[in-house]
Amino acid sequence: EVILEVKQLGKTYESAQGKVVALRDVNFSIHRRELVCVIGPSGCGKSTLIRMLAGLEPHTSGEVLLDGKPVDGPGSDRGMVFQGYTLFPWLTVKKNVMFGPEMNNHGKLEAERNALMWLDLVGLSKFADAYPHQLSGGMKQRVAIARALVNQPRILLMDEPFGALDAQTRIKMQTHLLDIWKNIDVTILFITHDLDEAIFLADRILVLKAHPGEVQEFIEVPVPRP
Ligand code: ADP
Ligand code: ADP
Repeated sequence: EVILEVKQLGKTYESAQGKVVALRDVNFSIHRRELVCVIGPSGCGKSTLIRMLAGLEPHTSGEVLLDGKPVDGPGSDRGMVFQGYTLFPWLTVKKNVMFGPEMNNHGKLEAERNALMWLDLVGLSKFADAYPHQLSGGMKQRVAIARALVNQPRILLMDEPFGALDAQTRIKMQTHLLDIWKNIDVTILFITHDLDEAIFLADRILVLKAHPGEVQEFIEVPVPRP
């Protein structure tokens, strides 16, 4: 079952300095329950790609189909986790996770129950009433993952989510993410510039070539599972 289809996708930025072709003719698809990593050097268009998939940035050519429907804006069918901790500092951990469902008009009690369930899944039930500044970096990213999953998105889009963590925490988080992924029905697109991370996590690695402006053919590398 194909979840995400990217066809001839392109992006040209127009700025005062002129046009920058960030991506051209990108094609790939992701199947249900796959964990796909996209790697490539800085400036090759990884963030542009994931922002377009998230609907946060319009594309200038081609199309993105999620469950066969064109993506043309943000939606709760996609969960996002970024590198920076995007938690609201004035809200408790639980309120941070509830923020999405409350906004989507679920009942408050149901939203709270849901939030606690996802916090349990990321191992942070005990910290439901803590504030973000009381948590370590890894714990904050676990909250961000819970918040991204609480709406049960079709796909989880992760942009260098562990890039700001120290090496040891990063490895713990990779293992933790794999545990979550094995336990729930979720498809993950994970961007990283760390090949070791991609090899550890991915079913399939898409390598984005280095030269913006050229045809951005993905080289697909299957990763054998031990
Ligand atoms: P990566 O995430 O792989 O480092 P980006 O998607 O950030 O790559 O950038 C791809 C290319 O697009 C780069 O050449 C970058 O300078 C350019 N770019 C990114 N964002 C903008 C923007 N808002 N305006 C103009 N050019 C941009
Ligand atoms: P992370 O790797 O998620 O950044 P660590 O596991 O290194 O966090 O823990 C940072 C601190 O938070 C440690 O003091 C640890 O004991 C505590 N901690 C982390 N997760 C939990 C948890 N689920 N319950 C209790 N304490 C925790």
